[in-house]
Amino acid sequence: MIDTHAHYDSRRFDDDRDGLLSSLPQKGVGWFLSCADSAQSCKDVLALAEKYPHAYAACGIHPHNASEVDWMRFKPLLRQYLTHEKCVCLGEIGLDYHYDFSPREVQRALFARQLVLAVELDMPVSAHIREATEDALKLLQRCHPRGVVHCFTGSIETARILLNLGMYLGFGGAVTFKNAKKPLEAAAFCPIERLLLETDAPYMTPEPFRGKRCNSTHIQYTAQKIADARGITADELIGAADKNAERLFGIRLA
Ligand SMILES: [Zn+2]
Repeated sequence: MIDTHAHYDSRRFDDDRDGLLSSLPQKGVGWFLSCADSAQSCKDVLALAEKYPHAYAACGIHPHNASEVDWMRFKPLLRQYLTHEKCVCLGEIGLDYHYDFSPREVQRALFARQLVLAVELDMPVSAHIREATEDALKLLQRCHPRGVVHCFTGSIETARILLNLGMYLGFGGAVTFKNAKKPLEAAAFCPIERLLLETDAPYMTPEPFRGKRCNSTHIQYTAQKIADARGITADELIGAADKNAERLFGIRLA
């Protein structure tokens, strides 16, 4: 299993991070992508990637923290992080109009700048889009990056537009939630060669562990739910999703 989106620098792993991360390969997790959300977090996820062979890093600024960034100062640092041999993605970036922790125009400007940089460096992005579909699609259409819309919970119509742009769709614990029909519908609709599995650990824990802290081993519950909806086995789904992750992020394990 490959976890294409987790936050292992989160404080919620401070008490047992090393024990947990060291144990993941034995528990069937081939590798994971730990996504940064702030300037400090970029350094933290790179440190994790240096420490564990099965850890990779995504560096970027989350829309929540958009207003903390002075782009002219940060851009050269980000560029440098992105050249790290274990940094395989620019993320987590995007727009979040649900929480609005940063002003929307600041979020849009930073998202656009990070998309332009991703295209310039030919790096995939991991995009977070919450209640901002229209504006996010406009920027994705304008910049045309490659990458994934993580934790996709949108409509089939939105899925179609993203797929036409060449994007992958990432599915996590939300597909297992009893009240959430839309995410599972999209996961059943998504062409198998564009589907990625993820946790967003420590968040978005799938059933039957909802409410507890999430970790990459929980992918199997998300995979089972999507596989059932598609009429295939969880192993088939995981096999396909793993290949997609290796293709998108350019990672080939021996
Ligand atoms: Zn995330």
